[in-house]
Amino acid sequence: MNAPAGAYRMKRWKCEFSQPWMERDFQSHVRPVVIQQLRWALIVWAALLLLFAVPDYITLGPVRPFCYLLAYRIVIVVALLVLIFSITSETRVFQISYSVAAVVVAGFTGFMLFFIYHPDVVTLIIIVIMVQLIGLLVFVPIRFIVALSCAMYGVFITLATRFAMGTTPANLVVLFILLMLPVVIGAGTTMRLGFAQRREFALLTETKRINRELAEEIQKRLALEEKLKELASTDPLTGLYNRRQYEMLFQHEIGRSRRRDSPLSVGILDLDNFKQVNDTYGHTAGDAVLRRVADVCRKNLRAIDIVGRLGGEEFIILMPECDIDQANILGNRLLKMIESEVVDTNAASIRITATIGITQLFSDDKGIEGIISRADDALYRGKKAGRNRVEINRQ
Ligand code: GH3
Ligand code: MG
Ligand code: MG
Repeated sequence: MNAPAGAYRMKRWKCEFSQPWMERDFQSHVRPVVIQQLRWALIVWAALLLLFAVPDYITLGPVRPFCYLLAYRIVIVVALLVLIFSITSETRVFQISYSVAAVVVAGFTGFMLFFIYHPDVVTLIIIVIMVQLIGLLVFVPIRFIVALSCAMYGVFITLATRFAMGTTPANLVVLFILLMLPVVIGAGTTMRLGFAQRREFALLTETKRINRELAEEIQKRLALEEKLKELASTDPLTGLYNRRQYEMLFQHEIGRSRRRDSPLSVGILDLDNFKQVNDTYGHTAGDAVLRRVADVCRKNLRAIDIVGRLGGEEFIILMPECDIDQANILGNRLLKMIESEVVDTNAASIRITATIGITQLFSDDKGIEGIISRADDALYRGKKAGRNRVEINRQ
């Protein structure tokens, strides 16, 4: 399970995918949730800032320091509100991260006012800063590296302020260790979560890719299967049914005709003087003529009629629900259509005619050979009688 996900590398310190496109995909994938979380984090931050104005007022009273601190709170809350309202469902975390970072930096800087105006509760202020550090890293879903930089700035500005206020180096070291504690815990938690989410996303992406490939493969195989079926059942030159297929369909039609007691007529169509076409214009031109005649048959017969290539320049036509007289009409119509065709080849414009011998299925017919041989007799008579005609055999 881990192997495919491992195909994607991560930038450890940034807690992002090494491939920018992968990170972009991941950000788009998590965007709806992240946007929601970011909005709530900013709302809670603004609410806490306003809420803590109350203890400020209780401890300081309506004096100048209280006003400074209130002004600080209002400025940050306004900045937060601007951020909250500027976030839309289209907002990218990468874009908004720097705006949030600007407010965080301003927030940390302004927060140093508390050391000046609340010198009696330094420990409490440090605890609040520690909470802010961990809150920033864990609950504000901006780019990890940006959040970490902001947190480090928070540590730095706190140490710098305490230093400026005369804290001893030993105390500064203790303070540094204390402040780094939430940074390390917060960063560790966020990294662990970030990696886990990205690994999961990598797996999901991999699974989707495999599924897509599988679906494509199945599609290809189905198409191939279809093609193979077609190849197995049709004649490659004309696309008409081959012997195997028309014999099967013939048997099927005989059965159906007997069950329903409906007529079934069978015609054999043979091109007239086709050898001459080959001899005069070449085999390729002959092939073009064969293809055209096959097309004419396909287009001019009924949908239920079956046309196969019996061999060479002979075609077999099965006409279900059609007695011999109706088949005669169908055959004559078909011959007219063939006669009117002009096949343009490189060699010449070729015209062709054909002869059709027709018979019908009788109750005492045993197999298809007998029926074909009857149609063949009719065809032979047709050829003898001058070609380009339909001849029928009623016995
Ligand atoms: P008829 O009117 O008596 O049927 O005369 P015909 O010339 O059509 O009959 P014959 O049986 O003498 O010639 C059939 C020709 O069909 C001979 C052969 O070269 C040609 N032929 C058979 N199969 C193919 C094919 O696949 N392509 C081409 N171009 N010619 C073919
Ligand atoms: Mg022939
Ligand atoms: Mg012929």
